[in-house]
Amino acid sequence: MHEEVENRKSPPKRPFIFYAVIAMIVIMLLNAWVFPSLLRRSVVEVGYDQFLEMIDSDEVKEVSYDETSGQFVFIAERDGENWICKTGIWPDDGERLLQQLMEHDDIKFSATIPTQADPLITFVVSWILPMAFFFLIGDLFYRWMRKKMNGQIPGGMGNAMSFGKSGAKIYVADAKTGVRFSDVAGQDEAKEALVEVVDFLHEPKKYTAIGAKLPKGILLVGPPGTGKTLLAKAVAGEAGVPFFSISGSEFVEMFVGMGAAKVRDLFKQANEKAPCIVFIDEIDAIGQKRNTSGMGGNDEREQTLNQLLAEMDGFDGQKGVVLLGATNRPESLDPALLRPGRFDRRVPVELPDLQGRKAILTVHAKDVKAEPNIDWDVIARATAGASGAELANIINEAALRAVREGRKALTQADVEESVETVIAGAQRKSAVVSDREKKIVAYHEIGHALVAALQSHSAPVTKITIVPRTSGALGYTMQVDEGERMLMSRTEILGKIATLTGGRSAEELIFGEDNMTTGASNDIEQATKLARAMITRYGMTDEFDMVALETVQNQYLGGDASLTCAADTASRIDERVVETVKAAHEKARSLLAQHEPQLHKLAAYLLEKETITGEEFMRLLKE
Ligand code: ADP
Ligand code: MG
Ligand code: ZN
Repeated sequence: MHEEVENRKSPPKRPFIFYAVIAMIVIMLLNAWVFPSLLRRSVVEVGYDQFLEMIDSDEVKEVSYDETSGQFVFIAERDGENWICKTGIWPDDGERLLQQLMEHDDIKFSATIPTQADPLITFVVSWILPMAFFFLIGDLFYRWMRKKMNGQIPGGMGNAMSFGKSGAKIYVADAKTGVRFSDVAGQDEAKEALVEVVDFLHEPKKYTAIGAKLPKGILLVGPPGTGKTLLAKAVAGEAGVPFFSISGSEFVEMFVGMGAAKVRDLFKQANEKAPCIVFIDEIDAIGQKRNTSGMGGNDEREQTLNQLLAEMDGFDGQKGVVLLGATNRPESLDPALLRPGRFDRRVPVELPDLQGRKAILTVHAKDVKAEPNIDWDVIARATAGASGAELANIINEAALRAVREGRKALTQADVEESVETVIAGAQRKSAVVSDREKKIVAYHEIGHALVAALQSHSAPVTKITIVPRTSGALGYTMQVDEGERMLMSRTEILGKIATLTGGRSAEELIFGEDNMTTGASNDIEQATKLARAMITRYGMTDEFDMVALETVQNQYLGGDASLTCAADTASRIDERVVETVKAAHEKARSLLAQHEPQLHKLAAYLLEKETITGEEFMRLLKE
């Protein structure tokens, strides 16, 4: 019982006081009404005559005189039992009584004969016993509740009631079933950093001989689906030491102080099992910046974070406890968590490049039956910007498609179709698209492709299609970057904006300005974003030069930017954005106007075929 009381000392504060008050009230009522009559010794009132008779018949054993009440209290034995009796006397009969008493020298004279029970016993009976009783009931009730909750609600509430248990999953190295580094494709830099950790845990002497200290905490940062959790699992598989894994959100608890207790428990376990690795996934759930405004802070989260910080300082790196964290919101983490001595090493886990994508596709293709002649290079090129999770999904979609179509193995077509499914949604064969709409879509898509092809700096297209998709797109043009480019020049960005406006430009040119459609909304959004970024983030205009006018908020989660400039600057930025997009639109229109015959020819071909490849497109364009 002691331990439980200790552990729950703060959480159920209010209920405890509430019950204590109720118990007090009940005890007081008992004291007022029930106990007095129970505790009072029964005193028999007898007449004076009877008292004298009892003296004569040798029944009286002990006598005392109570001055305050002017009565005699005496103990008499009758039928082998002791009775406490009292009686008054005639006021002037004292002498006769005294004489009578003297005749019986076996009667004792006492100063008092208590008519009340012993005060100590009274206290024990009226206070200590009831309290002990209530504590017992309370404890039994608590145990019963805990049992019931553990049984009924798996996980969640069960954990909530087992106060302060961390609930971390422990993996002990299992080389056969675990994930290995070879299962993680690409991400070579991240792997290198983690291999070092594993090596340290295997052979600490090699490092301590030189005096090298390993970082205590390593933070994996990167966009969702790039393999952070997978990497941590691979470390567990390779490490050969106990691996504690817990998600940040599991520390967030109902009661203040319980998250902190969990952290304490986790580190206690880790210290016992050292050398070992502790992995906290989605660490931003507890590691968020503490509230500096001083109002409406989240007590529970802050306490948990403080506990984590304290524990990280407390453990000895030499003992071999290494902390791994993963997050896709590093900028929201509390700076205290990132300072040297804590999570001081940051390992970026970025979106895979061309080589990385190819490697990831190959790794996942091993799990499915694929025809040997699939050109993964083509697929990798077509999936620029896809994360590892998306690539894994593409393979799975392709496998599903192969099954649907009754094939025994994946074909190139399966994978290509599934790339489009993942990028643009599944084909919507049932969609009814009128001939006129189809025609508009064909010109729109060819408009994009033609503008892209006519500008030397824009990447050529690989595929154009006007098959409707479940995502709502009526067609799209797939542009593929030749290889991976980290940098984009001003000309390239302007060319890209022009390409984006190419679809609408073609519609205007062919069907007239009054017949423009809503189909360009996505193009418009992207073009505007690019133009704005050119001005506010890339410093590509004379007017604002190299001044940062926007800051990116969530680098890895969509990258929302927020303006950091005065209101009139903002309106000047807007003007500049409009100018930029307008100029690009103008350029696209004139390019298309110069090549109208090609536009007609290509659109007609696309209408007929519904899907054409980049090669077909270039061949027709050059004819
Ligand atoms: P996150 O970075 O969001 O934690 P995960 O590690 O959970 O991403 O990755 C999700 C899934 O995507 C993995 O289970 C794996 O199938 C696949 N995946 C992601 N990155 C890779 C990679 N580099 N190599 C192989 N598979 C990967
Ligand atoms: Mg993850
Ligand atoms: Zn478009």
